[in-house]
Amino acid sequence: MAPYMNGENTEAEIPPPRNWDPSIIDQHPVTPSGIKVLIIGAGFAGLTAAIECKRKGHDPLVLESFKELKQLGDIISFGGNAGRIFKRWPGVEDKLDPICHVSQSLKYFDWQGNFIYEQFWGSEEENFGKRFNGHRGEIHKILYDHAVEQGVEIRLGQKVTEYFELEDGAGVISNGEKIVADVILAADGVRSKARKIVLGFEDKPKSSGYAVYRAWMDSAELAKNPLTADLVTKGDTHTGWLGPDIHFLAASIKDGKEFSWVCTHKDEADVEESWSAQGDHEDACKILEGWTPAVHAIVRMTPPEKLVDWKLVYRDPLPRWTNGHVTLIGDAAHPHLPTSIQGASQAMEDGATLGVCLQLAGKANVKEALQAYERIRYNRVLVTQKSGEATRDKWHKADFDSLRKNPEAIKLKRDEKILNFDAEVHAYEVYEHTVAELRKEGKI
Ligand SMILES: Cc1cc2nc3c(=O)[nH]c(=O)nc-3n(C[C@H](O)[C@H](O)[C@H](O)COP(=O)(O)OP(=O)(O)OC[C@H]3O[C@@H](n4cnc5c(N)ncnc54)[C@H](O)[C@@H]3O)c2cc1C
Repeated sequence: MAPYMNGENTEAEIPPPRNWDPSIIDQHPVTPSGIKVLIIGAGFAGLTAAIECKRKGHDPLVLESFKELKQLGDIISFGGNAGRIFKRWPGVEDKLDPICHVSQSLKYFDWQGNFIYEQFWGSEEENFGKRFNGHRGEIHKILYDHAVEQGVEIRLGQKVTEYFELEDGAGVISNGEKIVADVILAADGVRSKARKIVLGFEDKPKSSGYAVYRAWMDSAELAKNPLTADLVTKGDTHTGWLGPDIHFLAASIKDGKEFSWVCTHKDEADVEESWSAQGDHEDACKILEGWTPAVHAIVRMTPPEKLVDWKLVYRDPLPRWTNGHVTLIGDAAHPHLPTSIQGASQAMEDGATLGVCLQLAGKANVKEALQAYERIRYNRVLVTQKSGEATRDKWHKADFDSLRKNPEAIKLKRDEKILNFDAEVHAYEVYEHTVAELRKEGKI
């Protein structure tokens, strides 16, 4: 394997895919660890970490700045690697199934509406794990409720303004109150405040050079329009239109009753890290000038309040995620471009890995657990982060003449190494070796 080089390793290699044996989980019976885990942020990273910490006998407390739970966002995707994690949480899969997208393929067209290729999700992919794609807010609510049912304490309306390190733990200031714990998992998203204590400097976000228009809406109007009816009257469908420096993806969900679309395009504007800036139909249509009438119909039929203009923020891989008793997880550690289709899944893998590392380390060795977590996860995440750029470039710079001869070349890469992965089993398997490696290097 290529050496771990703290962010310099752009050619990171990760282990090849193989069969995963879950019996290793039962070989490590859970007993109360007494480890107080303070988690900042209740997104997918924070909630997964909290649920997994509870599963492994630790005591998680989650602080979230939102004052109430709102069903925010639109389409979000979880690969088979995240599906394995969901499936270990009693009752969650049954709640996810009715709200998730179920199509078997993705149809590609060029920007003028000419069919290119249909990519089927092969039966071999079913062995990787179950995929879940649906409304971010709806899936998030299911996770949130599950965390609460499992006894996780989540305090809403808690804005963390400061992080500090202690000899035997770490703490935060939240709404003026000091809260301390054995470890802090900073799951505070792409604008993470915790990066400062971990990196030792303010880390500024940068524009990826792209932005997206996106929407989630009822599909009744689309069903009445001959240009769009096929997208929503034949159950769930998944369609992509590709053109120079733009791609437009659309999916129908809940047997075609609801519809989501995302259009990624070049954008040089200043980075406004807001999810909720309302988009403008005219601006969106201007970007799509010369494109097939079907995508214009979709944009025009989007209710104004549902059209979101979102600047795609990116950050180069961080040199490290951990300092002392504080570690970054999810987007705070590794924001992904949407074309990686792995941002939320990798956030979940962080939580599953940490639960195990803390269990195996025990209360006396929590710093060792955080270092091991970073080492176990770092190269893998580097690969998924980079895959987002590769897919975007493949679609945006496609040579349509050669694609007509070789349409398969447009396929989304379904990397078995990434998708067929069991983060929990992997953590049990490699923890001891990882700690030995860190000791040898004098890192712990
Ligand atoms: C409102 C919202 C809508 C989104 N919609 C989509 C979408 O439609 N599609 C998609 O693919 N991805 C969406 N994302 C991003 C996606 O959820 C993440 O990229 C991914 O799931 C990784 O999750 P995360 O938990 O690391 O980060 P996030 O999901 O960003 O969660 C971070 C959490 O930390 C909280 N937080 C931040 N700072 C503080 C603080 N100082 N104190 C306390 N709490 C704090 C935030 O309120 C947030 O709940 C959205 C994120 C948010 C916050």
